[in-house]
Amino acid sequence: MTSNQALFERAQRVIPGGVNSPVRAFRAVGGTPRFIARAQGPYMWDAEGSRYIDYIGSWGPMILGHGHPAVLEAVQKAALDGFSFGAPTEREVELAEEIIRHVPSIEQVRLVSSGTEAGMSAIRLARGATGRSKIVKFEGCYHGHADALLVKAGSGLATFGFPTSAGVPPEVVQHTLVLEYNNLEQIEEIFATQGGEIACVMIEPIAGNMNFVRAQVPFVKRIAELCQQHGALFVFDEVMTGFRVALGGAQSVYARLIPGFAPDISVFGKVIGGGMPLAAFGTSRKIMQHLAPLGPVYQAGTLSGNPVATACGLATLKQISQPGFYEALGAKTQSLVEGLSAAAKAAGVPFVGDSEGGMFGFFFTAELPQNYGVVMATDKERFNRFFHGMLDRGVYLAPALYEAGFVSAAHTADDIAATVAAARDVMKSLPGA
Ligand SMILES: *Cc1c(COP(=O)(O)O)cnc(C)c1O
Repeated sequence: MTSNQALFERAQRVIPGGVNSPVRAFRAVGGTPRFIARAQGPYMWDAEGSRYIDYIGSWGPMILGHGHPAVLEAVQKAALDGFSFGAPTEREVELAEEIIRHVPSIEQVRLVSSGTEAGMSAIRLARGATGRSKIVKFEGCYHGHADALLVKAGSGLATFGFPTSAGVPPEVVQHTLVLEYNNLEQIEEIFATQGGEIACVMIEPIAGNMNFVRAQVPFVKRIAELCQQHGALFVFDEVMTGFRVALGGAQSVYARLIPGFAPDISVFGKVIGGGMPLAAFGTSRKIMQHLAPLGPVYQAGTLSGNPVATACGLATLKQISQPGFYEALGAKTQSLVEGLSAAAKAAGVPFVGDSEGGMFGFFFTAELPQNYGVVMATDKERFNRFFHGMLDRGVYLAPALYEAGFVSAAHTADDIAATVAAARDVMKSLPGA
């Protein structure tokens, strides 16, 4: 049997940093990444045969757990019929119908292969449909790694953003305005000064890329009003929250709290592919008709709507749309957060957690953070020690304090209890406890 360390060394020779997506490298928490050999239900096994209760779930997609029999069967069957045709298939239509059925704000979707692609295309569509260039995003929200979105706030509100990645020329992000999450004053001011130039405001409604931070209800409500008044489009990036926090996504959660609320454009990924490369963006028929081949906004993909990926997504959606699915998942996730909170309290460690549906987050601080700056100022040392303590005890949490966690339908009450027991043990050894 090979070891994680040996695989990591081998990987680093042929893959930069040994990984194909940076957070997998454990840079934030230190240590050796686990190379996963296989997974089943709520568990993953690494190359050394160690078992982990998995709270990453491929960063969200594995809402049914790994290897759900109905999903496996659908994928195997689809594979026998062919991997990819470069021509339309009935299954794409079915998946589009299924997504639309659960998300009343959209009438049409375009299927793509990654959340990055979906977010990038949604912005191009918003710009094409409005004839405007500027886009507004919020610090700490991740919308994929398209050039125009790899940007952080400049020094003054009205100044241009700065690229957060080398290789992105400043000119490419000059139309991207970056504001503080949950900051009403800033969004008011940007619309007051530049409202007529803004194509869209893009947001992670429950931000999972800064652990777990909800957009406050008055904030969402006001952005929707400002967009409406100024002819800008409100884009909900639900790549993480879509079909994860509720069947209708985060927008259904906000629609319950804000009568009549609906975003203009929605972006999906992760859960809709059930673990296969699949994502989508959707909106009204009127806006969608700007998209090629009907309109002048170009967008395409060799593997878009892939037959095996759509089979996986459809089989997943079929399971999660069964009555009571989200009630059970939400209750289980809540019990996990409550268990972790109780463990922290018993150890005298400051801790706060939150969850919606099958998505959760926690911070080593007393109050839920409301923006990125506060998230990044929470106790990293405690988080990292907690992460490794849990990993040593067979619990795989997200390896960075700015990432969310995910519970699947396959996690049992025993898995949650075992996780909480491990947490009680680890919390006691944390500094300050
Ligand atoms: C994961 C994620 C993306 C990017 O999706 P990829 O499939 O990794 O390209 C975009 N937006 C949000 C909110 C995400 O969580």
